[in-house]
Amino acid sequence: MHWADKIAQEIVSSGKYKPYWVDDMKTPSGFAHVGSLRGPLIHSLIFRALKDVGVEARFTFVINDFDTVDELPSDLKESFAKYMGFPLRATPSPKDGYKSYAEYFAQDFKNNFKDLGVEAQFLSSWDMYHEGKFDEVIKMALDSSEKIQDIYQKISGSRKKEKGWLPFQVICENCGKLGTTRVYAWDGKEVSYKCEPNMVAWAKGCGHEGKISPFGGKGKLPWKVDWAAHWKVMGVTIEAAGKDHASKGGSYDIALTLCDEVFGYPRPFNFGYEFFLIGGKKMSSSKGLGLKAHDLVKIMPAELGRFVFTRTNYKEQIEFDLMGTMAIPDLFDEYDEAWQAYVAGTDENLARTFILSQISEVPAKNPIFLPRFRDIANYLQLPDVDLLKKFEEGKGSPLSEKEKEILKEREKYAKVWLENYAPEEFREQMSGKLPVEAKKLSSEQKSYLGKIIKLVDKASNPDDLQKDLYELSKETGIKTKEAFSAIYLAFIGKDHGPRAAWFLLQYPKGKVLARLKEASK
Ligand SMILES: [Zn+2]
Repeated sequence: MHWADKIAQEIVSSGKYKPYWVDDMKTPSGFAHVGSLRGPLIHSLIFRALKDVGVEARFTFVINDFDTVDELPSDLKESFAKYMGFPLRATPSPKDGYKSYAEYFAQDFKNNFKDLGVEAQFLSSWDMYHEGKFDEVIKMALDSSEKIQDIYQKISGSRKKEKGWLPFQVICENCGKLGTTRVYAWDGKEVSYKCEPNMVAWAKGCGHEGKISPFGGKGKLPWKVDWAAHWKVMGVTIEAAGKDHASKGGSYDIALTLCDEVFGYPRPFNFGYEFFLIGGKKMSSSKGLGLKAHDLVKIMPAELGRFVFTRTNYKEQIEFDLMGTMAIPDLFDEYDEAWQAYVAGTDENLARTFILSQISEVPAKNPIFLPRFRDIANYLQLPDVDLLKKFEEGKGSPLSEKEKEILKEREKYAKVWLENYAPEEFREQMSGKLPVEAKKLSSEQKSYLGKIIKLVDKASNPDDLQKDLYELSKETGIKTKEAFSAIYLAFIGKDHGPRAAWFLLQYPKGKVLARLKEASK
């Protein structure tokens, strides 16, 4: 059984968590990296699995647009420094056409989600606070400030109790900042606060002191309290969290305990999911490391993008190392295997993975010929290969319209892969002139290059030429490795490279022969 179906089954058979309300959330503080798609995708899968069980479910995604600007993407570091400390929703958009900073970045990940079939309904935290929906929980939290501090201390073990601390921040009436205000008194109606010049290192408060009502969007709860408060206000019953939040004593634990002890709200069905790693490292938006979420559909079809998350159990890390690796061709192979399992009904889990990876409609269960991605990438680098003809030969009959469509789509993505991600041996290019490294050629190697001129001249297919090149090295007594590195030194200035015959035949013959003559002199 697919892991998402297991979770759905566990939820339904528990008899709890009704009505089923799946939720996830994100702060729109910059362009999301590809790893941050894991949460939305996991929630989308659980939502679909619940619906497939036949129960009613709801799926929302909260845009945390009432959060503070507390870090900036590198390209905005200087121009937006003055907005540090402001609510994201009260900060202007970096680009025209958006109402706020929050809206600009939220729109980007809403688009990513749509592309990947994440069907959540979006809600704005700022709007919910301003509509007064949080008034009740704000009062509860302010009335329970001691208890909340106890919970922080008990669960995370780190925080020292501060006398007079209150779980709330207001927007300063004088300067408009949220991240700099300290609320120090609550009389049951209003809070007293000071906009502190030195409370945080990343923003400076104006020093203003005031007393205002905390309700109706005048301020917000600190995020762990805010998280639990959202569950209660909305009625969320299912929400997972990334491992960084879900570790023992972390923010998720605190939020769940706040449900029990402060808000009197049943804990949502919860679990922590593993990291998404690139080259063994956890991705980070602020450090600009790795791929942006909106780039995923530029490098592979959306179903494949979804498949990345569907195929891996939430308990396992996803290693997504695309640069200079065969990861993308491997992913296509796995996807094709899942598709064929779906058609043949051979592997239930794999077939289900395929179904859950579809963006909207699941393809009909008809036999299908899937042109292999890595072959397309190979053929694209050979001279005069008619892709359609090549694959029709492979299939043994004409491709159907659907198959042609897939071939065309894969051709597009194979070009992207070759240009940006393929290992060197897949995309080595002949140098414009004889590389300086060709000086390293021994006389034996030069003589070999002179002898292959004839072979290349008469060659018409790479399979035969490759054999001939190999045979010739045997005949002349040069070590095979030396022979092939002679070719690479003459064409790319390295002692290793792509499969020689395929490489040589992709260029105009005149150019190749001229280079061989020059290098063998
Ligand atoms: Zn202020």
